[in-house]
Amino acid sequence: MTGEERDWRAEARALAQALLQEGIGARVAEAIARVPRHLFVPPDLAERAYEDSALPIGCDQTISQPFVVAYMTELLEIHRGERVLEVGTGSGYQTAVLAELGAQVYSVEIVPELSLRAEKVLKAAGYSSVHLCVGDGAVGWPGFAPFDGIIVTAANEGVPPALIEQLDTGRRMVIPIEDEDASQFVWRMTKRADGRVDGERMLAVRFVPMRSTRTTPAGE
Ligand code: SAH
Repeated sequence: MTGEERDWRAEARALAQALLQEGIGARVAEAIARVPRHLFVPPDLAERAYEDSALPIGCDQTISQPFVVAYMTELLEIHRGERVLEVGTGSGYQTAVLAELGAQVYSVEIVPELSLRAEKVLKAAGYSSVHLCVGDGAVGWPGFAPFDGIIVTAANEGVPPALIEQLDTGRRMVIPIEDEDASQFVWRMTKRADGRVDGERMLAVRFVPMRSTRTTPAGE
């Protein structure tokens, strides 16, 4: 079945309804209901696009589970017109959900092929308030800092210091962190006036690890 033939809006609404029942708030659920998720998954998996599950998107990466996208989006507490840094564009689905909330999204992806594909899909779906670039998200996107929110969608062993620097005071960073025993949790970090962050451990999750370019000599 192609994207045109299916009634994807009904499927997206049903997904949003299920998320509401799981405790996601109305504003984020409505954003989920408006995003054509089938465009962000490989064509052979499009039929499963509105299931509440993560799916492979190639390059050993996955599009996150809608519940996790919704949950992390809520933790950000972002409002219309605010600027969000996303680390790990992947399929671009999380980017689209943030754009639906009216955010100006700056999204960094380390795999060029994924960034290019996400850019095409986001453009085709009509999202114009998104800015993508290829690079190591651990260094953030200093040219557009400070951000009103930062969301990281790959797992880290700690919070990259550059990201704390690029977060505005009083605002939130939502980031999956791996413990020593390899279990992972989403943390919500709030930046204090003294430049440090307070962290709260939230949901147990499973994200792919952050890749690093920092071992590569500069310029390569
Ligand atoms: N938000 C995505 C899920 C992405 S999965 C979605 O909704 O589809 C995690 C993504 O982080 C992958 O695309 C991976 O390539 C990317 N990634 C891993 N390490 C990274 C890094 N250091 N900087 C930027 N992106 C990174």
